Amino acid sequence: MVKCPRCGKEVSSRPGTICPRCGLNVSEVNSKIRCPEPNCRALVSKKLEYCPKCGCKLKGYKLNELMRLARNKIDEVFYDDKE
Ligand SMILES: [Zn+2]
Ligand SMILES: [Zn+2]
Repeated sequence: MVKCPRCGKEVSSRPGTICPRCGLNVSEVNSKIRCPEPNCRALVSKKLEYCPKCGCKLKGYKLNELMRLARNKIDEVFYDDKE
């Protein structure tokens, strides 16, 4: 159980839970993401724009950007092998 951040009612922490008292989407507000910084990896609230631990930007770090970074890494390895 988690507490609704708006009205304080105890609600289920399962994904998609809506607070029965105030209608807030509790799971969305409470959901956490991992800081994309490899040295940090702190669990931070999705609502925050910057990581409170390392200060890096959290928003705008989309999946396709991560894919691109991963691909760059693969390219680096590839070129290393070639030379
Ligand atoms: Zn509520
Ligand atoms: Zn961080």
